[in-house]
Amino acid sequence: MLIEGKTGTWEIVIGLEVHAQVSSQAKLFSGADTSFGAEPNTQVSFVDAAFPGMLPVINRYCVEQAVKTGLGLGAQINLRSVFDRKNYFYADLPAGYQISQYTQPIVGKGTLTIDLPDGTSRDIGITRLHLEQDAGKSMHDQHPTKTFVDLNRSGVALMEIVSEPDLRSPEEAGAYLRKLRAILRYLGTCDGNMEEGSMRCDANVSVRKVGSREFGTRCEIKNVNSVRFVMQAIEYEARRQVDLVEEGGTVVQQTRLFDSGKGVTRSMRSKEHAHDYRYFPDPDLLPLVLEKSWVDKLKAALPELPDAKKDRFIASYKLSAYDAGVLVAEK
Ligand code: ADP
Ligand code: MG
Repeated sequence: MLIEGKTGTWEIVIGLEVHAQVSSQAKLFSGADTSFGAEPNTQVSFVDAAFPGMLPVINRYCVEQAVKTGLGLGAQINLRSVFDRKNYFYADLPAGYQISQYTQPIVGKGTLTIDLPDGTSRDIGITRLHLEQDAGKSMHDQHPTKTFVDLNRSGVALMEIVSEPDLRSPEEAGAYLRKLRAILRYLGTCDGNMEEGSMRCDANVSVRKVGSREFGTRCEIKNVNSVRFVMQAIEYEARRQVDLVEEGGTVVQQTRLFDSGKGVTRSMRSKEHAHDYRYFPDPDLLPLVLEKSWVDKLKAALPELPDAKKDRFIASYKLSAYDAGVLVAEK
C-alpha cells in the first residue's frame, strides 16, 4: 500500500516480532502447569517464583516444539544455541531477569509465504526464532490502590519469531500473521489464540519515499492482540509518520502502544530510555546441543503444511489459488 502525501508518495516498511506461547503442559524450565484461566498463583513452582537456590531444568518437549516450528518455517536449525539472562527489574519478574536467547538462538533464517487477496503469493524473510520465558502478570484492576501479581504465566515457554522488514502494507502484515498462525496450528506448536494472549505481536513501522533505498526510522508498537488491531495500528502509525515528516518533523525511534478504543498509537518510551539488559549467558544452563539425527526425525514426521496442501488442492482438484487458499487457511 502506498500513501499519497503532500510532498510525494510514501511506502510503508514493516517488520513483525511475534511472541507465540509454546503448546506444552509444563513450563520451559519447571514442571508447573500452563493451563489458561486458572486461579492466580496456583501454577507456580519455586523456580517460577525465583526462590533462592532453585535451578532451571530445560523442558525437552518445548525444545522439540521450537525445532518443529523452525522446520515448518523452512528455517536453519542451530544445533548449538545458548540461553542468556536478560536483566531488568519489574514486580512481575521475581528473578530480576528473563531467560532468553540473544546472539545464538535455536532457529536462524527462514521464509514464510504470504497469500494475498488477488491470489498471488510473496516470500517474507524470517530473521530468527528463539526460546524465552514469559513473565508474570501485573493486575492493576483488582484493587483501587494496589497492584496484584499473578505468577501463573511466569516461566511459560514462548517462541519469539522475528521477521525481516519485508512487509509493505497492513494487508501484508495481516496475511503474515494469519499464515504464521495457520502454520503454528497445523504443527500443533502454539494454539494461536490471540484473545487469550498466546500469540502477541509487536509491529515495527517506518515510512520512506517511493524509490528511496534507505529505511526510515522505525517505531515499535508493542503487544497488539488481534490481527485487525495490528493492521489498524500500522495504518495509523504510517499516516502519523508521513504527516510528521511532511510538516518538517522527524520520526524518533520509539516504543508506542495502540489504543484500540481510539484507534491511535501513543508514545510509551523513547530510545534514550531504552533498556540496557546486560545480557550474559545463564550460568545455570549449559549450551543447548541438539543431535542432527533427532532434528532429522522431527523433520520427517512434520505434518503436511498449508502451502503444500494448497499446491496439492490446486493440482488434484483444479482449484484456483484463491479457493485453495481459503480451504487450507484453517486446519
Ligand atoms: P530490536 O531488538 O530493537 O527490536 P531488531 O533489529 O531485532 O531490533 O528489529 C526488530 C524488528 O524491526 C524486526 O522485525 C525488523 O524486521 C524490524 N525493522 C528493523 N528496521 C526496520 C525499519 N526501518 N522499518 C520497519 N521495521 C524495521
Ligand atoms: Mg523489538
